[in-house]
Amino acid sequence: MSLRVTFVGSGHAFADGGRAHSCIHVAAPGVSLLLDCGAASLPALRRVMDPSDVDAVAVTHLHGDHFGGIPLLVLQQHFAHRDRPLTVGGPAGLPARLRLEESALYPDFFGAPGRPRFEVRPLVLGPVEQEIGGTSVSAHPVKHIPSAEPHGLRVRAGGRLIAYSGDATWSDDLPPLARGADLFICEASNFERDDPAHISYRTLMAHRAELECGRIVLTHLGASTLEHLDEIELDVASDGMTLDL
Ligand SMILES: [Zn+2]
Repeated sequence: MSLRVTFVGSGHAFADGGRAHSCIHVAAPGVSLLLDCGAASLPALRRVMDPSDVDAVAVTHLHGDHFGGIPLLVLQQHFAHRDRPLTVGGPAGLPARLRLEESALYPDFFGAPGRPRFEVRPLVLGPVEQEIGGTSVSAHPVKHIPSAEPHGLRVRAGGRLIAYSGDATWSDDLPPLARGADLFICEASNFERDDPAHISYRTLMAHRAELECGRIVLTHLGASTLEHLDEIELDVASDGMTLDL
């Protein structure tokens, strides 16, 4: 069974280059999982697939460009007559943050009985693998803004392993996160220099030998990375790009 990975959105919070917020779809027979669903993910998702085909969402951390699109997805799915649950996994604080977002954006909808018409099933992701969206997912702390409860994900499906950094600056957390992965999806917000929350391409390449993984695809691309695309020796995601594992 091969896995199809679609980079629905490959931008960071500022949407440099017009790229949509973080959202990656992992699909195979019996598998349909979004990795992150940022605020601008629903229009990007609708350009490449029917959102009704999404079984579950696994969120890396509590920043709007990674989870802010979930209430909009739920709203759209209600009016698309979804009749099966949507599992939403992520850090322990995710359900409370979603309630805050729902009550701020659509209190008329989310406060009404029978809305949404389907069950949104919360799941706290952690170091022990759990089934979500037809995959087995574990979540591992990475170095980012601590209040956002940042994690990287390891996603097993169809005999393949995908690792995803979420947002992270370089730390000793990244080699074990990526170890053994057929595909490591790594953020590259910056080109030359890390900042306290995000890694740079240069730093990632300096540590490339420590990453015992197969293919690396860069995503969450900021302006400085986009300005140097012709110098980058790794694969770079674009909105709508697919690859098969
Ligand atoms: Zn973040």
